[in-house]
Amino acid sequence: MNHFDYQGGILFAEDVAIPAIAAEIGTPFYCYSTATIERHYAVLADALAAAGLETTICFACKANPNLAVIRTLAQLGAGADVVSEGELRRALAAGVPAERIVFSGIGKSREELAFALDAGIMQINVESEPELLMLSELAVAAGRVVEVALRVNPDVDANTHAKITTGKKENKFGIEWTRVREVYAIARALPGIAPVAVACHIGSQLTEIGPFREAFLRLRDLVSDLRADGTEISRLDLGGGLGVPYDGETPPSPAVYAETIAQTLGDLGCRFIVEPGRLLVGNAGLLVSSVVRVKRGATRTFVVVDAAMNDLMRPALYDAFHAIRPVVEPAADAAAAPVDIVGPVCETGDTFARQRDLTPVEAGDLLVFETAGAYGAAMASTYNSRPLVPEVMVKGDRFALVRARPSYEDMIALDRRPDWQTA
Ligand SMILES: *Cc1c(COP(=O)(O)O)cnc(C)c1O
Repeated sequence: MNHFDYQGGILFAEDVAIPAIAAEIGTPFYCYSTATIERHYAVLADALAAAGLETTICFACKANPNLAVIRTLAQLGAGADVVSEGELRRALAAGVPAERIVFSGIGKSREELAFALDAGIMQINVESEPELLMLSELAVAAGRVVEVALRVNPDVDANTHAKITTGKKENKFGIEWTRVREVYAIARALPGIAPVAVACHIGSQLTEIGPFREAFLRLRDLVSDLRADGTEISRLDLGGGLGVPYDGETPPSPAVYAETIAQTLGDLGCRFIVEPGRLLVGNAGLLVSSVVRVKRGATRTFVVVDAAMNDLMRPALYDAFHAIRPVVEPAADAAAAPVDIVGPVCETGDTFARQRDLTPVEAGDLLVFETAGAYGAAMASTYNSRPLVPEVMVKGDRFALVRARPSYEDMIALDRRPDWQTA
């Protein structure tokens, strides 16, 4: 559920009319609802507590790294899952306590690991033996012992889009299942490393509980084996991945997810970390765009909007579906007809929807792309020299610009001409 609804025929974000924001900020822009983020967090936290699980919810910042979004969650008690020094700096800047931050990712550099050690974060999720050796060396040099999870690859099919499945043995992520005990033995022996946890993240936008259950059962066996080997596992990091409805999917509810954790892993005496991204923010964001013009072709009608694939990459990247609706509520008897909704970028891939039923629109009308709060602004670029899309956050009857649209001058000023061109 979310807090974007028609009131008197106009789409509102909480108590703010979308056209009022558009008039002030211009389009395109992302619009986030504080109440929706808070609600999603509360539903998940309540479900985990009701299942009797002691859990730290570490928001996967890569889904939406805006400081205002991270801050909203931090104020509710969330930690952060970060995948780069940039995200770690954002989480700290947003006020997430270091002891609630987990660092994931297969390509952490020496500098990034050193920064994380220095910040004193809760846990580093190590994805390979060379990373483990590098971290040990850095920890010894810093005179620290760092709590580590090995991210394991349970070889489970998440049944999601190939580009966001991560837990199969042919994926680049995690330590191969057959080598996990051996690498824990190495970790146990290394100075500066306390292997206290196991981490696992099998993919994103999962819409069935089965793959989670399968992965958790594998973890359960692994924890027994590791304990028998002498590794004191006290924490399990179960990753993120719970899906959200984009187009009528019915992903497992947080309650079912929490119950599944409790049934499979609840009696191991471990604390838990979960790393939801999309679940917390996906449904809490819209991309608001204006119709530039309607172009009637021989066989199709194209609705050209001022948002493009550089602002919202998911359709071009993963053929993702976003519901699209007009900001002015169509009359109940308005007839919808199939149109292609496209952006201005010079790529055929810059198509948000093909042959989608839409009631008639004209230049200047506002449209919103729903469920755009996760992996939307986070993936935006300036392709076609379009200034980075701005972001707005709503709370009740207030709204604030939480990332400004750069001016053309700002954008161009990042480039430099070499000295042989400036003479
Ligand atoms: C991307 C990612 C997440 C979050 O995934 P969602 O599908 O957004 O919940 C969590 N953990 C890790 C390690 C990730 O890479």
